[in-house]
Amino acid sequence: MADSTLYRELLSFLSGRARTDEPMKKHTSWRIGGPADIFVEPGNRQELRLIVSYARNRGIPLTVIGAGSNLLVSDSGIRGIVVKVGDGLARIYIDGDVVSAEAGAKLGRVAAAAKDAGLGGFEFSAGIPGTIGGAVVMNAGANGSSVGVLAQRILILSLEGDFSYKSKKDMNFGYRSSVIQTEPAIVVEVAFACYPREKEMIDKEMAGYLARRKASQPICCPNAGSVFKNPPGESAGRLIEAAGLKGMRIGDAQISTLHANFIINLGSATARDALKLIDRARDTVYSRFGVELQPEVKFTGHN
Ligand SMILES: Cc1cc2nc3c(=O)[nH]c(=O)nc-3n(C[C@H](O)[C@H](O)[C@H](O)COP(=O)(O)OP(=O)(O)OC[C@H]3O[C@@H](n4cnc5c(N)ncnc54)[C@H](O)[C@@H]3O)c2cc1C
Repeated sequence: MADSTLYRELLSFLSGRARTDEPMKKHTSWRIGGPADIFVEPGNRQELRLIVSYARNRGIPLTVIGAGSNLLVSDSGIRGIVVKVGDGLARIYIDGDVVSAEAGAKLGRVAAAAKDAGLGGFEFSAGIPGTIGGAVVMNAGANGSSVGVLAQRILILSLEGDFSYKSKKDMNFGYRSSVIQTEPAIVVEVAFACYPREKEMIDKEMAGYLARRKASQPICCPNAGSVFKNPPGESAGRLIEAAGLKGMRIGDAQISTLHANFIINLGSATARDALKLIDRARDTVYSRFGVELQPEVKFTGHN
């Protein structure tokens, strides 16, 4: 339950974009997650900084999310303040071959803006949901490339409330990983190095990726994309399928019959249901094949 004094104080400098006891299932692609004590959507980077300083000065836990497309939020929700970096920080600028985007801009919008300017680089991302902030933290990728390949200069806000820049090297991008996963900070804006390319070529390549995605991934039901990372030289989906788990259901959570590395929400799945399936898949794959699957999705919230 949110502290009402805290909430009123936050409202006073956030012109209305704060809510209490906000169901997180409204903010995750899995449509799973209990209430956030206080949920705020900053309208610009100054507001973001104010929230960060406010939380720090009062010792209030702060959780940052983007579009929630890689998140499993617990059924009892999140204590403290949840900051959604979204539409309030979503500007996109293009200068020559460099595409810059604020962290709340959707990856798909940034790819479309690059294409419209005749700039290639983002083709790989066709169909990956989420924001630029989430994409950089996760080093989102597909089709042999990833956001970290293009990202050059990243403006971050530390949890102490200071802005600074990181270079590609500082970010230590790896397979679905970046330094922000081990040294938490908030991604505010990113500059991407693109290159001139004909729009028709970009369109054609992206359409091909989208068609492949539609044929191989469940679009019927809420999900969070791949649940596990692919082990080196292997496919997590193939291992889960070979372990005989395709279609397995716990409550309203089900291992997709189309792609075994996806867990779909059939209607009212809980985080508990999804976690039980995740554990089952991990344990069974380990006992059958000796491979330890590592989750790609991020867990957050109170147990
Ligand atoms: C149908 C579907 C298909 C998908 N396909 C792919 C795919 O092909 N490749 C792939 O890589 N991923 C894929 N994903 C996963 C997801 O789209 C990516 O991980 C995406 O980049 C997450 O972005 P987000 O804004 O939703 O982040 P969120 O899920 O909101 O957050 C992810 C992590 O980033 C942190 N975070 C978010 N924004 C910020 C910020 N501004 N500053 C600091 N930390 C932040 C959060 O705390 C969290 O730890 C898929 C998901 C779905 C639902």
